[in-house]
Amino acid sequence: MTDQSFVTLSTNDSYAKGALVLGSSLKKHRTTKTLTVLITPQVSESMRKVLKEIFDEVIMVDILDSRDSAHLTLMQRPELGVTLTKLHCWSLTQYSKCVFMDADTMVLTNIDELFEREELSAAPDPGWPDCFNSGVFVYQPSIETYNQLLHLASEQGSFDGGDQGLLNTYFSNWATTDIKKHLPFIYNLSSTSTYSYLPAFKMFGVNTKVVHFLGRIKPWNYTYNPKTKSVSSDIHDPTMINTEFLNLWWEIFTVNILPLLLQFGIVKDTSTALNKLSGLTYTLAFSCGFCRKEEVTDAISRMSIGHLNPPSQPFESSNKRKERWEQGQADYMGEDSFDNIQRKLDTYLQ
Ligand code: UDP
Ligand code: MN
Repeated sequence: MTDQSFVTLSTNDSYAKGALVLGSSLKKHRTTKTLTVLITPQVSESMRKVLKEIFDEVIMVDILDSRDSAHLTLMQRPELGVTLTKLHCWSLTQYSKCVFMDADTMVLTNIDELFEREELSAAPDPGWPDCFNSGVFVYQPSIETYNQLLHLASEQGSFDGGDQGLLNTYFSNWATTDIKKHLPFIYNLSSTSTYSYLPAFKMFGVNTKVVHFLGRIKPWNYTYNPKTKSVSSDIHDPTMINTEFLNLWWEIFTVNILPLLLQFGIVKDTSTALNKLSGLTYTLAFSCGFCRKEEVTDAISRMSIGHLNPPSQPFESSNKRKERWEQGQADYMGEDSFDNIQRKLDTYLQ
């Protein structure tokens, strides 16, 4: 145990699978730091036991426990739930320094050298590189910072509805002040970058240290074939150009995590386990057939801001459509038909 820790978060049993693979990958590469996972009451009892096998500390956090005014205001904003839970990482003052990592990340090598960096160090976000991506960041626990972040959340909310928007507002000088706080992209390589900038990935990807399965579809949503040691690739998914990382995630999962899930009775036998773990989201997300659901949703939501918003489309309606999309209820033959979406994308790209 040291006074430095890797910290992750899981608010349910699905993300716990990610946290377990992350923890296992850190151990495999012989980290000397403590491993901490923050959980909420929704994580099942059995899953907590499995988490205890991999993590040194399994810490229950519940935002509703506190009673001060910032918390009370925040309770009116349920959409910030997971975001606020992530902020709890600043309250871990038993540590002098921490590296937070999303549960959908995985390390390919030892990254203990990150602890030489100062708060707040993070890699650029691939979508908007003047913002940092909040999937991996170096920080210093502090109750003062924690309270200030909560205060900011209650006063202003988050510009993207998540922790990344809030943290970028709070640490707003990240982009301009100190280049040492810019982690190289290989410390938070978003899996989507392997196809959005393939030549760069071919050139630099070999040095990747941390993979981040950013986006709506997570590794545990895929179907995996343990015989061929590969995820199924029978669909038109641009992210499938590089399945190497997904296969590696699944290999760690099947070799190191699945036996624990069996031991603690979370899954009954391995063959049905693998089938059960493949998510419905997968089918729903790709029934659009030409690109990832999140890209279409993002494109649609981008169209609803500023000059890109056609005057006849009120913001409310676009938001509702987005919500339906996210629940997998796209109107494939009507409003959300291929032709309609393509037309809108064309307008946007002009
Ligand atoms: N998270 C969680 N439960 C949720 C959603 C998110 O525990 O229902 C945690 C988890 O650690 C996750 C992080 O919050 O990795 C950020 O969410 P996510 O990775 O889904 O966002 P993305 O990186 O895709 O933007
Ligand atoms: Mn993530």
